[in-house]
Amino acid sequence: MSAHLTLRGLSRCYGSPARPALSDLTLAVPAGSCLAVVGPSGSGKTTVLRLASGLDRPDAGDVLINGTSVLDVAPEDRGMAMVFQRPLLFPHRNVLDNVAFSARVRGASRRRARIEAAEYLNLVHLSGFGSRHSAELSGGQEQRVALARALAARPKVLLLDEPFSALDAALRSEMQDLVRQVRAALDPTIVLVTHDQNEAASLADCVAVLSSGRLVQHDPVERIYSRPTSLVAARQMGGRNEVPGEVRGHHHHSVLGSLALPVDVRPSQGPGVLVFRQESVQVSDPDDLGAEIQGLVKAVRPTGPRSLLTIEVADGGGPKAVQQTVEIHAETPPGHHAEVGERVGVRLAPHALAVVSPAPEHDLRSVQMTAASNPPVHALRRRALATDRVNQRR
Ligand code: ADP
Ligand code: MG
Repeated sequence: MSAHLTLRGLSRCYGSPARPALSDLTLAVPAGSCLAVVGPSGSGKTTVLRLASGLDRPDAGDVLINGTSVLDVAPEDRGMAMVFQRPLLFPHRNVLDNVAFSARVRGASRRRARIEAAEYLNLVHLSGFGSRHSAELSGGQEQRVALARALAARPKVLLLDEPFSALDAALRSEMQDLVRQVRAALDPTIVLVTHDQNEAASLADCVAVLSSGRLVQHDPVERIYSRPTSLVAARQMGGRNEVPGEVRGHHHHSVLGSLALPVDVRPSQGPGVLVFRQESVQVSDPDDLGAEIQGLVKAVRPTGPRSLLTIEVADGGGPKAVQQTVEIHAETPPGHHAEVGERVGVRLAPHALAVVSPAPEHDLRSVQMTAASNPPVHALRRRALATDRVNQRR
């Protein structure tokens, strides 16, 4: 029931050619797999689904199902079904007939379509709801009907556009369970647009990260977490630690000192931002000999058994006119209590470090100056700009 989906060189521009909604996107989604598409708002995620489904036509590129172009195939004949952020049920039809509609479009008799619809309603745990109308359903129930209607079309590829983002956390996790059950029962190929990194991690095999209409990374979930290749990818997957510095050889030099990079990280030399996940930061006693970094707890945010800490680390090196500091985000182990103002040791799991290139706006975002000599940020910006101008003149 599933198919290999290939997007080849897809481009789409709505307005200014200088700002295409999607540029030259090539992606392969193997049959039966689930790809999560993440990216900032406006990065082109919905455009990808609209082009794949045939709701919109690309300016360039192709959409292939099992290797055959479907560009000239009508949306309803492509073997794809889409679920939108809002359920968009037919208000004049009851739940059963909303779902049966898909089978009717496929050419099933009214009776057959209703029998099948009842089966799909059962699959989404709504068997008793067939005679209700959408006004009599909760948001989560409506979205389950929308999913049942999409599944009743027996799609080879299921396209989900932030389908659960309007639901509260508990319902969202129920819906995620449901998608897992659907995968186990029907095995469709799934493209899931989401802004929820936990949803991406719990449902998808691979993640594609879009930024300004371009694919910036496409990797298995584990790798996107551990080896983001850009600040956008790191941030989209919930990464919070960004330490600007410089790569020399196979070390990153920053306020945190000189840190050896994992052997599989191949950073470019020069300015680079060290990124690592808060889960990979170990907080210990300040006199822990293995903790190469010392910091001061600036904030504690309890989240159930663990706490999230913001730890300020200052550059320990000699007397300097301006001392740099950086904030690190860490999770405490369960049961560990930390207090604001406490000194702590910090260990970074060596395999958890990655380096990405600084985004244009990165320069001063995560570097602060200590109160002792605290030039206002605009003065630093002016200084940075002046340096840039000097560099350009050279
Ligand atoms: P996302 O789903 O990632 O938020 P979209 O794919 O909806 O992003 O949009 C990508 C870009 O294309 C945005 O800048 C958006 O404003 C623009 N865009 C999307 N659809 C249209 C349209 N129908 N007309 C004009 N611009 C559009
Ligand atoms: Mg969208």
